Order: sequence, then C-alpha cells, then structure tokens
Amino acid sequence: MPLNPISHPLVSLSPAEAAMLAKVRALVAEHIGPRAEAVGQTDEFAWDNFRLLAREGIVATAFPREYGGSNASMLLRVRIIEELAGACTTSASIITGTDLSSRPIVAGALPKIQQAVMPDLVTGVRQSAFALTEPGAGSDVARLATDYVVQADGSYLLNGHKKFITRANVADMFVAVARLKDGPEGARGLSAFLVPRAAKGIQISPIIPKMGWNGVPICMVDFENVEIPADHLLGKEGQGMALAQDTLLRARIGHAAIALGRMTGALQIATQYAGHRKVFGHAIGDHQGIQWMVADMAAQIEAARCLVYSTALRYDRGDADAPVHASMAKMHATDLCMRLVVDCLQLLGGNGYLKAYPLERFMRDAKMNQIGEGTSEIHKNLIGRHVLRMAAEMTQHPCLDLEPDLYGA
Ligand SMILES: Cc1cc2nc3c(=O)[nH]c(=O)nc-3n(C[C@H](O)[C@H](O)[C@H](O)COP(=O)(O)OP(=O)(O)OC[C@H]3O[C@@H](n4cnc5c(N)ncnc54)[C@H](O)[C@@H]3O)c2cc1C
Repeated sequence: MPLNPISHPLVSLSPAEAAMLAKVRALVAEHIGPRAEAVGQTDEFAWDNFRLLAREGIVATAFPREYGGSNASMLLRVRIIEELAGACTTSASIITGTDLSSRPIVAGALPKIQQAVMPDLVTGVRQSAFALTEPGAGSDVARLATDYVVQADGSYLLNGHKKFITRANVADMFVAVARLKDGPEGARGLSAFLVPRAAKGIQISPIIPKMGWNGVPICMVDFENVEIPADHLLGKEGQGMALAQDTLLRARIGHAAIALGRMTGALQIATQYAGHRKVFGHAIGDHQGIQWMVADMAAQIEAARCLVYSTALRYDRGDADAPVHASMAKMHATDLCMRLVVDCLQLLGGNGYLKAYPLERFMRDAKMNQIGEGTSEIHKNLIGRHVLRMAAEMTQHPCLDLEPDLYGA
C-alpha cells in the first residue's frame, strides 16, 4: 500500500529482519519523528541520532558479521532507510552515509586494517567520510586531480582538494580516491586510500552552509603532502574507480530508498491534513480535484516502490544489471519525490510554506537526492546508453524492416 508498506509482495523478511524493521518503526514513532524538525533546523552533526542508530544496531547493518555487523541484505536496508526517511532525512542519511563512507574499507582494506577500525565503525565509536568529489571533478570523477606518489619505503604521499565531503568535520578517517602522479589517465590511474584524520597535512574547512539535508554537514578537505602507510591502500593500485563504483552502487539504491520514504511520508502528511482541513464547508479531501491528485501520487509511489524493491533484490542476487537498475531507481524515485513533495506541500496551502509544518523541510531535503551520488542527468546518460547497447545486441523487432531503407532514413 502506498502509505503503509509494512507488508509487500516483493519483501519477504526473516523473523529477525522483521524484528529489526519493527524496531526502526518504533524508533521513528517515539524518538526520530518527534525530534526531526529540531534536528533539521541546524546543520551540526546530529550526534544524538547517530548514537541512537549505532546503539540500536542500525549502523551495524552495513558491516560484516565478523566485525560485529549484521551484514543486512540490501532489501532490509532499503526498508530501514525508507522508514527513517519518512520522517527524518538526517537519520536516513546517517545510515546511507555510513555505507558510503565505509564500503571501500569493507570491500578493500587489508584484514589487519579492518580489524583495527571496523569494530569501532560498527558501534559508532569512530566514523569515516568518503572523499571523492573535487572542485574540477563532480559528475566526471574519472578526471579527478588529487594525486599520489609511491615513496621509496612503499608509503604514499597524497596532495589535492576534495569538496562537499559529508561528515568531514566529525570523521576519524577518510576514504580518499586519488590519481597516480604521471600515471595512466582516466579511471585506470585511480587508487583508494584510507587516510587517518590524525595524519599531518589535512585541512578541513568550516561547515559549508546548504539549503537542507541538515544534521550531516559538508566541508572542503585539503590534503597537503599527507603520508599514508603502505598498508592503507584499499584494494590494489588502479582499483580506485572500481571501489568507488561498488560504493556508489549501494549509495544510489540508498538515495532511491530515501526518496521513496520521504514521498510516502509526505503523502501521509498531505492526506491526513486534507481529511482535517475544511474549505467551502467540506474537508479538502472531499473535492474530486484533490482526490485525483492523491490517486496519481499513490499510484506513482507504488510503481516507484516496486522499482526500488526489485533493484534491491537484484543487488542481493548479484545480478549483472543491478547497476543500471540502481540508476533507474535513483533517477525515477528522486525525481518523482521532488515533484510529489511540492504537490503535497501545495495541499497544505499557506501552512505548507511554513516552518511549523514538515513539508518545507521535506522539499528542501528532496533536492539533494537528485544531485548526490550521480545527478539525475548522469543517470539518464547511463540508462540511455545501456538501453541503446541492449537494442543493438538484440535480434531485430519482428515488425521492423530496415531493408530496403524506404524513405532514406
Ligand atoms: C549535500 C552534499 C553532500 C555531498 N557529499 C559528498 C561526499 O560525502 N563525498 C563526495 O565525494 N561528494 C559528495 N558530494 C558531491 C556530489 O556527489 C556532487 O555534487 C555531485 O556528484 C555532482 O557533482 P558537481 O556538484 O560537481 O556537479 P557538476 O558535475 O558540475 O554538474 C553540474 C550540472 O551539470 C550536469 N551535467 C554534468 N555532466 C553532464 C552530462 N554529461 N550530461 C548532462 N548533464 C550533465 C549535472 O547533472 C548538473 O546538473 C556532496 C554534495 C552535496 C551537495
């Protein structure tokens, strides 16, 4: 159901998974929802929410069992993120952001480094940040310019500037992607490193003010002759782009889940308001024009929900086409969320525009989902190219005759 996805034909959870989800629902109802407005007002790191989510084992869902995590399926994570985002983008973003910033450590760090840092990441004692974007490389990350050299003792020396790095002000370590100086151009020259915050030569800017998405601040991060021990390389040299793509794939599904949760929450708020507010002697929900709007929104949300859940299922099965489905889910759910949140706000009339009601916050937060982890335009490029490649590989449609070329097309 559009407003209450507690059971869904695409979601089958074990009793332990269902209990985890029920716990998240209870946390949202009792703690996260009631204080979402306050958390969303200032752009300071939302320590209370982070600690709550860590204490309750929600942060741990992104980590392997051997280090204390619960290695949750993507489907369960999508459901958790969706529940959180229905009330509080900050909390949902803490969960997706933990995955974003830790995934290269899970996927690429040496076992001894994992042993050293992962238990603390699982419990929230320490945090990491993911430093990929640069002033000259956002959508086009293969062009990033932060560089490294390999020193005689095998350690690395890192130089460069990173922009818009979430949690940089509170992170204990950074996953930084950099290019081998004078090495191969493009993606082949990229490697990923785990950079301890305590390393000399790291400068973190003051928090950069932004439109919304508060509680998870962003900063610029400068690396100047930062020494990185040899064993802090993630994966192998040259695997930086592969690790980043693996990370972004999970984060894109996370963005889609946030958008799904937010638009579900927005529709609940708008329809409950529409049942309550009276104009011309009737609740606004009694007017056919409003019912049609609600019907369109409900149907669109359910269609997006099926796309997001099936993408998570494909990811969990390890399907080769999970990335293009993640692009479709991210593009579709985040663009739809932006439109629907605006329409839901409209249903509240003047109240919708006030800070006293949650939808102005939802609207400001919604914009970010269309930008982070690949903008909607970049996902359109990826999907469009994929579909055209597929078409070229398929046998010709039985109704299409390309020979003779009748009209010189
Ligand atoms: C709140 C916030 C948090 C962030 N957190 C992090 C983080 O933790 N770590 C990190 O590394 N980065 C982070 N980012 C950066 C984010 O991932 C980038 O902002 C995003 O990828 C877009 O890059 P850009 O801003 O450089 O935009 P640009 O690449 O400059 O794009 C500008 C516009 O041009 C469009 N465009 C670009 N190329 C094409 C094309 N080929 N075809 C059509 N249109 C195109 C884009 O869609 C966009 O609309 C964060 C950003 C924000 C705002």
